Amino acid sequence: MTVFSHRSFDDHQSVHFHADGGLKAIIAIHNTVRGPAVGGCRMWPYGDDDAALTDALRLSHGMTLKSALAEMPFGGGKSIVIGDPARDKSPALWRAMGRFVESLGGRYIVAEDVGTSPADMEIIRRETRFVAGIEEGGSGDPSPATAWGVFMGIKAALETRFGRGDPSGVRVAVQGLGHVGLALCGLLAEAGAVLVVADLDAGLVARAGRNYGAAPVAADAIYDQAVDVFSPCAMGTILDDQTIARLKAAIIAGSANNQLAESRHGEALMRAGILYAPDYAINAGGIINISHEGPDYDRDRAFAHVARIHGTLLTIFARARANGNATNEAANRIARGRIQAANNA
Ligand code: NAD
Repeated sequence: MTVFSHRSFDDHQSVHFHADGGLKAIIAIHNTVRGPAVGGCRMWPYGDDDAALTDALRLSHGMTLKSALAEMPFGGGKSIVIGDPARDKSPALWRAMGRFVESLGGRYIVAEDVGTSPADMEIIRRETRFVAGIEEGGSGDPSPATAWGVFMGIKAALETRFGRGDPSGVRVAVQGLGHVGLALCGLLAEAGAVLVVADLDAGLVARAGRNYGAAPVAADAIYDQAVDVFSPCAMGTILDDQTIARLKAAIIAGSANNQLAESRHGEALMRAGILYAPDYAINAGGIINISHEGPDYDRDRAFAHVARIHGTLLTIFARARANGNATNEAANRIARGRIQAANNA
């Protein structure tokens, strides 16, 4: 395993490895030029250390771009706990993670992510104040805000692609029915969209069917559905040469981080005539919500701020079209311009 010469190193400021009792964790801090690095803690049973480091580096870099694009006073970071969230969690593990976060003195602020929950963050808080998205005295689970942002982003994509932003009657395939995916299904169903869903957890699929009239399909069949919108809300790197060739959707708009297997797949989507809402632009609702955290937290105000994702995406789509760029490239240019401006300030 290499670090400085790692293919995803991308000028990280620092990468920290920590073992403490049963805890094996990484904190990657990509950039703090706009503020402390904020990013979720992912718990996953990675096959090897390199897979865990790759995820940490890619996700942390994505957080720098996400915060800059959403004009947040934050930098980008991410933490990884290597383990099975269904088996390996314990209060001792989260306290050890809290001490790890605390040791960085506020350069990194942790929040929940795949495999972790607000309850885990509460335990981390016993060791450090550098934790966001907690229920008591914080802004709570960021997932409803993320889902709201994705919903607004889907409307922007519909407006751009079909000239009509109303989701009623629009067919949407949702991949992943976790914290964000299920909440998104609720918003879409309420707006009259027709849902097809998949998750590895049959209980969640049944719930989406019961609550939102969603039709179930096998996990792998989600790419083949004849829908208007494909909404990836599970894991990353799912858009590759094989899956792009199978997609029938006109729009891809979902919450998953790092959806493109490689950045060239953004161009592949453009060539295929599929409008791609760049992941870190459409899924910034959680981080925007966190930026409102504090004693005066006001959910309506925070959600109104999240709704601005609609305008951000319209801008990205318009710039991409005007310059003949893929939408991920258009988003990167805006975000990098903001990071450069902060660097020069
Ligand atoms: P989660 O862990 O609650 O849910 C993920 C769901 O995806 C699980 O139900 C899991 O069973 C399912 N899944 C995994 N692999 C699958 C597959 N191959 N096919 C179908 N389903 C599969 O996570 P979440 O908090 O809902 O986040 C979902 C995605 O959105 C992640 O990529 C996360 O990084 C990203 N994201 C989340 C937030 C947030 O606020 N929670 C913010 C920004 C980005």
